[in-house]
Amino acid sequence: MSTIENLLREDLRGRTAYGAPQLDVPVALNTNENSYAVPQAVVDEIVAAVAAVAPGLNRYPDREFTDLRGDLAAYLSRSGTRVSPEQIWAGNGSNEVLLHLLQAFGGPERTALGFTPAYSMHPIISATTGTAWVDGMRGVAGGGVFDLTAESAAEQAARHDPHLVFLCSPNNPTGTALGLDVVEAVHDAAPRAVIVVDEAYEEFARPGTPSALTLLEGRPRVVVTRTMSKAFAFAGGRLGYLAADPDLVDALRLVRMPYHLSSPAQAIARAALRHTETMLGTVDVIKEQRDRIVDTLPRFGLTPVPSDANFVLFGGLRDSHATWEALLEQGVLVRDVGIAHYLRVTAGTPEETSAFLDAIAELPSEHL
Ligand code: PMP
Repeated sequence: MSTIENLLREDLRGRTAYGAPQLDVPVALNTNENSYAVPQAVVDEIVAAVAAVAPGLNRYPDREFTDLRGDLAAYLSRSGTRVSPEQIWAGNGSNEVLLHLLQAFGGPERTALGFTPAYSMHPIISATTGTAWVDGMRGVAGGGVFDLTAESAAEQAARHDPHLVFLCSPNNPTGTALGLDVVEAVHDAAPRAVIVVDEAYEEFARPGTPSALTLLEGRPRVVVTRTMSKAFAFAGGRLGYLAADPDLVDALRLVRMPYHLSSPAQAIARAALRHTETMLGTVDVIKEQRDRIVDTLPRFGLTPVPSDANFVLFGGLRDSHATWEALLEQGVLVRDVGIAHYLRVTAGTPEETSAFLDAIAELPSEHL
């Protein structure tokens, strides 16, 4: 063991860091970003917003990010469920918001439950806070659909009696949204748990998939996390947030670092939110490309999972890592999510989607 490994916390030894490759490739479809650049009108407003706060950079930012909270509450309230600024918390990406939740409600002697395969950072952030992770199970039904029923989720939640439960809807990497019956059943079955519904991809959901925002009223243990990284095309801005009971939000102030959201971060997020319609303007074309991927892949004998997100998990591959490499050789970077025979691809622009589908068509027959 190296000196540093000796010094490292025992529970972190031998672990590998989160590492989606950041490669310079013509077609990068591996991290579920929005492929469209920020429109010039918004760029101009972002530049002006930074210029406006720059002289004040000698001072700490508003620790409570009051104005941003108001804007995020107004954005969520567009859904029809009224959300107040006191119900909002934000951080540098929803990963940081998830970290705050685990710091406040997890930790040593505490347990978090998630249903694998789901977002890989849920167990990783749990581990970094010393929270024991329990891998719950999803059913693998016919056609490669990774289902999670209310009965199964509730039974597992009751059995493990965790302090936190992570539900991801739409689920990364499988793409499908959960019915609200699953959230309600888990909430009722795990009476001491904070129920975190990770809705990073909610804006891409197909019609008829309601947000768990509608469950917040009367359920102070339910938290809905969101991000500006996906539909909002603002991954580089690093702004994630959550909506929950005001008392739960208040508790997160105990664990955050003072002034964790810089004044430029607050200002540029507000500038982007002022242009919500423009920033969300690409959602429909991305959804079309997602549906095109789902509709086209069966022609090659592949089995895509129906998706409510901006990506598609597809199965039917002999050796998923070999296919990942073969696609990369053609300049198309997709994600090997560690599920045998499956890969995940982000829905990009129509041209990127064509490049991906063409690369699939070019695969030698031994891949399929
Ligand atoms: N939740 C899910 C389900 C995600 O897929 C991601 C990003 N891949 C995140 C949260 C974190 O995103 P960010 O920190 O950029 O908000």
